[in-house]
Amino acid sequence: MTNAELFVDVLQELASVAMVEIASDGTVREANRGFRRLLPQEAREVESINAAPYFLSPSLRQLTAMASSGDTPCYEGLMTLGDPNGETQSLRGRVFCREDHLLIVAEHDIEELLRASQSAMALTSELTQSQRELITTNRQLREREAEIRHLSMTDGLAGLGNRRQLDEALSTEVSAANRHGRNLCLVMVDLDHFKQVNDAHGHSVGDSVLQALSRTLLSNAREADQVCRFGGEEFAILMRDADADTAAAATERLRARIEELRVGPVEHTFTASFGVAQWRPGETPGSLLQRADKLLYRAKAEGRNRVVSDS
Ligand code: GH3
Ligand code: MG
Ligand code: MG
Repeated sequence: MTNAELFVDVLQELASVAMVEIASDGTVREANRGFRRLLPQEAREVESINAAPYFLSPSLRQLTAMASSGDTPCYEGLMTLGDPNGETQSLRGRVFCREDHLLIVAEHDIEELLRASQSAMALTSELTQSQRELITTNRQLREREAEIRHLSMTDGLAGLGNRRQLDEALSTEVSAANRHGRNLCLVMVDLDHFKQVNDAHGHSVGDSVLQALSRTLLSNAREADQVCRFGGEEFAILMRDADADTAAAATERLRARIEELRVGPVEHTFTASFGVAQWRPGETPGSLLQRADKLLYRAKAEGRNRVVSDS
């Protein structure tokens, strides 16, 4: 089989083996796919290309000089080929001397390929590990964020939502009521003469009273109600889907339960006053809050331990 037949029949399509028949001035006579792949993109399809510039080490001139020794192969070993200003590749090959040309057969340096693939594998596994760590860190961050958000909305003493939580709930519920034409009531609660409890029994007993009251408010609330500590000895209950009559009746029951509350050394009964305001279509959360507060003030003025609603 001649060189030409070899190129055409067997090696033309091989990409892992580079084979070229080249004149000493660099003119390519035959080159397979594997050799052309070593050239810069724009040079690959050129028919009679001069490939001398792409033999980087040894240079074509050096190979030609070795060929004149008459030995064949005249060179055996590593060869660096490629774009002198760009990508180069190392191959291991042999150079055979022919009468007026060289025949070069080379394959990619397996050791180098192995090293490259090993370091690629190591990088991939490092990347996978980093991605796993990132996922875990992200999850922890989200959990921490949710925890911080929860803490920032919670009253430490009462274990209820705080003023910020109430503001958020008010805004959400007023929007929902507006959108769906639903009923919504806000109940403001204020312990009566609470200062006297503190004065008579001390602040920590006062705290226990506030905690007991919080539990009573919660245990008497419906699923749809949101109970918050508004501040001090004032609480708020947001009643979704309740009109003023329903809310006032529920609040009246709550008032009676608070009268039954007993806390530690405190002998007397506790009472609270309530203002119940029903949200009016188009009304802002601020205005609803103000009206509920005014109704609470009226309950205080009318003698305390009572529910005043706008129904
Ligand atoms: P009124 O019936 O008019 O509401 O009288 P009041 O004594 O309940 O109201 P006032 O506003 O005069 O006093 C509220 C008291 O609540 C004063 C304050 O020391 C007490 N207080 C507010 N927050 C806390 C708290 O977190 N713990 C305790 N122990 N007391 C608190
Ligand atoms: Mg009070
Ligand atoms: Mg008060």
